[in-house]
Amino acid sequence: MKRIAIIGGGTAGLAAAYELEKARLRGADIDWQLYEASPRLGGLLSTTRIDTLEGRFILEDGPDGWVTEKPWARDLALELGLADQIIPCHEEHRRTLILIDGKLQPMPSRMRMMVPEDLAALEGSTLFTDSARAAYAAELANATTLKASAPTHDESVADFVLRHFGQEVLTKIGSPLLSGVFGGDVHTLSVRAVMPAFVRMEQEHGSLIAALQAKSKERGSRPPQPAFTSLRNGMGTLAEALIAKLPPERIHLQREAYSLKREGKLWCLRTTTPNTTAKSKRHFQHILLATPVCVTRHLLTPLDAAAAALIPTETSSAVLAAFAWPAPAARQIHLPEGFGFLVPQTSNEAGALVPQAMEGAGAFRPLNSDGEKGALAPARTTLLAATFVDQKYPDRAPTGTRILRAFFGGITAEAMMTQPDEPIIAAAHEQLTHILGPLPAPIPTMTTIRRWPNSLPQYAVGHLERMAQLDIHIAKLGGLTLLGNGYHGVGIPDLIRDARATVRTLLS
Ligand SMILES: Cc1cc2nc3c(=O)[nH]c(=O)nc-3n(C[C@H](O)[C@H](O)[C@H](O)COP(=O)(O)OP(=O)(O)OC[C@H]3O[C@@H](n4cnc5c(N)ncnc54)[C@H](O)[C@@H]3O)c2cc1C
Repeated sequence: MKRIAIIGGGTAGLAAAYELEKARLRGADIDWQLYEASPRLGGLLSTTRIDTLEGRFILEDGPDGWVTEKPWARDLALELGLADQIIPCHEEHRRTLILIDGKLQPMPSRMRMMVPEDLAALEGSTLFTDSARAAYAAELANATTLKASAPTHDESVADFVLRHFGQEVLTKIGSPLLSGVFGGDVHTLSVRAVMPAFVRMEQEHGSLIAALQAKSKERGSRPPQPAFTSLRNGMGTLAEALIAKLPPERIHLQREAYSLKREGKLWCLRTTTPNTTAKSKRHFQHILLATPVCVTRHLLTPLDAAAAALIPTETSSAVLAAFAWPAPAARQIHLPEGFGFLVPQTSNEAGALVPQAMEGAGAFRPLNSDGEKGALAPARTTLLAATFVDQKYPDRAPTGTRILRAFFGGITAEAMMTQPDEPIIAAAHEQLTHILGPLPAPIPTMTTIRRWPNSLPQYAVGHLERMAQLDIHIAKLGGLTLLGNGYHGVGIPDLIRDARATVRTLLS
C-alpha cells in the first residue's frame, strides 16, 4: 500500500485529495492523509453568506471567480455536480474603470488586458491622450518589426508592454491590471510566466493588436465567451463540494507540518497536534506539499537548500474589505456601469511607485500601541482596486441591494495585517466615498475584513527557468511534489489542473 500525505488544505491540497480519493474508491492501493495547519479547509477559497429578510448576500473572502478561458475549474465543478451553480459574469456590462486624477475613466470596450481589438474603440476614449492612441496605431503598423525583434529570452512585464505600447499604457492600465491580479511590480514580474498567451501572440503576429484581430476573425459572428466565471453560492462552494467527497477520518485539522526528513525510503513527517504540546510523527512514501511558498521553502531548506532558493522569495499580501447594504440604504449609492475600478500607482520624486495623492481624508492611519490613531499619513488613495460585486456577477445580492469590495495590496496591506478591523473599514469606506460619491455608513454585521498575508508569490523574471531547475532538484529528492500557487500559475484553474495531473501521474 502506498502511503501519501498532503500538506495544506487549500485549493491545491483539496483538489489533490479529491483525485486520490477517487482513485482509492476505484481500488487503488493507497492510504492518503491530509494535514492542515488551520482549523478549516479551503485556504483562500472561502465565502461569507449573510441571510437577511431581503435574501442572501454573497461576500467572497478571497477569489471571486476564475478566467473562463482556463477550463479546469469548470471541469471540476461539473464533475462535482455543480452544473447549476456555474454562472458567467455580466459580460454585457464588462467594463473596467481607471482612477486618473481623482476621476474614474472607463477603459475602451473590447480590450484584452491592455490590448484593444479595434483601434476605433480608442477614438472617443477619455482615458488616453493622443500620444497613447498614436502608440497603439504604431504597434499595429510595426507588426513585422516586432515579430522579427521578439526577444528569445524572458523580460519584465513592464519592458514587454513598453516595447509594444509605451509608458502611458503601462502606467494607466498595464501596471494596475497586473497589480490587481498578482499584487506585484510590473518591473520585476516575468512576462513569460504571467502573460504567456501575450508572448505567444507576439511570436506569431508581432503586433498584439493584430493577434487579437486574427482571433476575432476566426471567431466570426460567435459572441465572445464571458471573461469570468463563478459559482452562484460563492467560490467557497467549490471547497465545500470537494470536502463533501472526502472521508473526514483522512483529514487532520490544526496539524501544522513543521519538519520533513528522509528516513531510508520513507519520508518522516512531523506535525503539531491540536490543543497539546505533543507532536506527531508518521511515515509516507510520497508527500504532496501544497503549502504557501514561505512554508514550503522552510520545510525544503534542510533537505535541499539550493532547491528552496529557487522558490519565489517575494510575496505580496492582500486585505479585502467588503461592504453590503440593504435596499433602503443602497438607494443612496450611484455607481458607474462596470465591474469596478483600478488605481494606478504614481511615481514619487525618487521614482518609486506610490499610491495616488488624494485631496482630503481617506489615508490609512494605523493605530499606535495605545490604540489611538497614529500620525496622519499623507492623504493617498491606498486602495489598489474595488469591485462592484452585484454588477459583476448575478445573484450576489438581493435586488435593489449593493455590495462593494475594496482591495488593498503591497505595503498598505502589510501595515494593515496586524491592525484591528476598525481603521481598515474606515480607510476603505473613506476612500470609496471619495472616489464614488456618498455611501451609507458600514453596517457591522454586513461588513467583512479579510487578511491574506504573503498570499501571492511574485513570479520574477527568469521564473520559468528557475521552475525547470526546481523540478530537477525535486525529482532527485524523490517521492515529493510541490503544489500550490508558487510554481505554474496562481489562478484557481491552474492549481486544480496541476494538482489533479500530479495525482494521475503519481498513480499511473
Ligand atoms: C485576495 C486574492 C484574490 C484572488 N482572486 C482570485 C480570483 O478571483 N481568481 C483566481 O483564479 N485566483 C485568485 N487568487 C489567487 C488564488 O486564490 C490563490 O492562488 C489560491 O487560492 C492559492 O491556493 P493554494 O492551495 O495554493 O494556497 P492556500 O489557499 O493558501 O492554501 C494553503 C493551505 O496550507 C495551509 N498551511 C500553511 N502552512 C501549513 C503547514 N505548515 N502545515 C499544514 N498546512 C499548512 C494553510 O492554512 C492553507 O489552508 C486570489 C488571491 C488573493 C490573495
